[in-house]
Amino acid sequence: MNSIVLVTGGSRGIGAATAVHLAKLGYAVCVNYLSNETEANNVVAKIEGSGGKAIAVQADVANENDVIRLFKVIDSSLGRITHLVNNAGILLPQMRVCEMSAERINKVLTTNVTSYFLCCREAIKRMHNGGSIVNVSSAAARLGAPSEYVDYAASKGAIDTLTRGLSLEVAADNIRVNCVRPGFIHTNMHSDGGEPDRIERLKKLIPLQRGGEPEEVAASIAFLLSNEASYITGTFVDLAGGK
Ligand code: NAP
Repeated sequence: MNSIVLVTGGSRGIGAATAVHLAKLGYAVCVNYLSNETEANNVVAKIEGSGGKAIAVQADVANENDVIRLFKVIDSSLGRITHLVNNAGILLPQMRVCEMSAERINKVLTTNVTSYFLCCREAIKRMHNGGSIVNVSSAAARLGAPSEYVDYAASKGAIDTLTRGLSLEVAADNIRVNCVRPGFIHTNMHSDGGEPDRIERLKKLIPLQRGGEPEEVAASIAFLLSNEASYITGTFVDLAGGK
């Protein structure tokens, strides 16, 4: 059976590194993105340049109609999906909870939580012969991100619960659902939070004394996704330098 994977938010950061890594392992990859078409096409070109197969598909994974369209494109262009990496996510500028608007909180929850539910739903419908899903949560789910983005941390707490509940719900269908919880990874996400040098500020507090690279997260995602992890479901891999 050919392995066909969707990586949501595959145009940059952890998603891009994961798409490239999985393509090297022989997966046909759908690189989803929101607005960064050039970056998504660059990831596809990198994969094709190494002899792999990939397509880039624009879709807002927080939007139900977009998700339905995204999966139909995968059906017709690559075939029936076998693996899913739920990775797309946002964080908004650092702020205390007492300053947060409902609009902001809802945007974070819809983008980071509803999207994972919708993509799981569409993938599971197609995983008749079993399958494997990896959700990208965050160390923030454990740490809470006080005075920075508790809304984001709470959205990732929801992903941990989704992982646990869904893994039990679909285990008898031979679908595995696992989770990685990165922290302090060198991507552009920290600029979106308003502090591009956040890792530099915090690195003395990280036991390994450094930030992580997207490729280090990609390797753990690939392991959990693969048959090497065939007896692992409902588990969490923390990738936060010991924090
Ligand atoms: P990033 O560099 O900011 O990239 C975010 C990706 O998500 C981009 O590909 C972006 O697409 C896509 N995206 C955002 N909203 C989307 C939407 N509504 N629909 C479709 N795609 C959307 O982020 P990252 O640091 O690699 O983070 C990836 C995941 O790891 C996230 O779930 C994040 O919460 C988690 N994480 C990151 C860290 C860290 O330290 N970096 C730590 C813990 C957890 P465009 O390029 O088109 O905008």
